Amino acid sequence: MDFSWTPEQVELYQRAFAFARAETEADWKRLGEFGLLGLSLGVEHGGSGLPAVDTARVLEGLAHGGLSPGRLFAASAHLFAAAMPIAEHGSPELQQRFLPRLASGSAIGANAISESTAGSDAYALKCRAERDGDDYVLSGAKSFVTNGPVADVFLIYASTNPKHGWLGVSAFVVERDAPGLRVGSEFVKHGLSGSTLSSLYLEACRVPAANRLGDEGAGARIFEASMRWERCCLFALYLGVLQRQLEQVIAYARERKQFGKPIGKFQAVSHRIVEMKLRLEAARLLLYRAAWESDQGRDASEAISLAKLAVSEAAVQSGIDAIRIHGGAGVIAETGVALALADALPSLLFSGTNEIQRELVARKLGL
Ligand SMILES: Cc1cc2nc3c(=O)[nH]c(=O)nc-3n(C[C@H](O)[C@H](O)[C@H](O)COP(=O)(O)OP(=O)(O)OC[C@H]3O[C@@H](n4cnc5c(N)ncnc54)[C@H](O)[C@@H]3O)c2cc1C
Repeated sequence: MDFSWTPEQVELYQRAFAFARAETEADWKRLGEFGLLGLSLGVEHGGSGLPAVDTARVLEGLAHGGLSPGRLFAASAHLFAAAMPIAEHGSPELQQRFLPRLASGSAIGANAISESTAGSDAYALKCRAERDGDDYVLSGAKSFVTNGPVADVFLIYASTNPKHGWLGVSAFVVERDAPGLRVGSEFVKHGLSGSTLSSLYLEACRVPAANRLGDEGAGARIFEASMRWERCCLFALYLGVLQRQLEQVIAYARERKQFGKPIGKFQAVSHRIVEMKLRLEAARLLLYRAAWESDQGRDASEAISLAKLAVSEAAVQSGIDAIRIHGGAGVIAETGVALALADALPSLLFSGTNEIQRELVARKLGL
């Protein structure tokens, strides 16, 4: 067993870290130029062809360097839940049409499965896709679509055969200007600023049958594959946030004095920081093991759910700890300390809630 990074992986991380240091608010175009938007897409499609381990490492480096977590979240939703499914399940024609634009950042991708009555029960879709000649006609509404307000390309899941439940779900690539597609107004949300969220309405939206990914009924399998990418690689951004936060609290605990000495000399504070370190290291090991298992082509679903749980729970708990260590300064907006907690809270929910991840692991354990 070898836990060390290769020189190429070290270089990737350093390049990501340096880019983020210089451009904390990099816009979408710059993220495309850096290569973030196509990290795991094949070189033939304009991507970098990186495996999951390296892709995750770049995301960690970018967040550690200070690139906005919201921006990284938006880029990850674009890459893992919209572009990767097209790369893995799209026809050569769909790949050629969309992937180079998605990889360069000249087009923005979004994925739309959730509905107001189909959240954790993701395949209980009311959104229908009915075949009509060479087209499908999509009708329904989607409730939470990251990048919705700005996306050019939507990956939309709809039921082609409601009687067949999750085996009746299909996935379609739909362009923003498709007749009958309407994007709702942007939600005001807590945390992850730099990413946008909206609902989506489909009113007899006509989509060519050639825009279907994979076979009719393959939607659930396609969505699960995209969630494996997301739960693994997207969550690496929180490792970078946690690393940065750890460095921040150590510096603060050394500098801030009470009762004539640095607060880091009080065991209550130093042990809290050690717990933050422990949480980060444990979450990091789980995440990279999950990414590695995935790259090996193994069934990594249990490792991925465990990693998603460990990273997101660590992000929330350490977000609270960082505030406590900073005392009152922790809740003053100017210090930015509480922002990490606001950015962490949604991670308990998206990509499948943590309760659902526990359910998935419980099933793997035969419970
Ligand atoms: C910031 C953000 C971005 C998002 N982006 C997207 C996106 O781009 N595309 C998209 O399609 N969706 C997106 N979502 C939606 C997200 O996938 C859902 O919020 C999530 O699946 C949970 O669904 P829900 O919100 O309806 O909660 P519900 O499913 O109603 O859950 C409510 C509570 O009940 C619990 N619960 C439900 N069922 C069970 C069960 N069987 N066992 C135990 N507990 C259970 C949940 O864990 C939760 O605590 C996003 C959400 C957020 C917060």
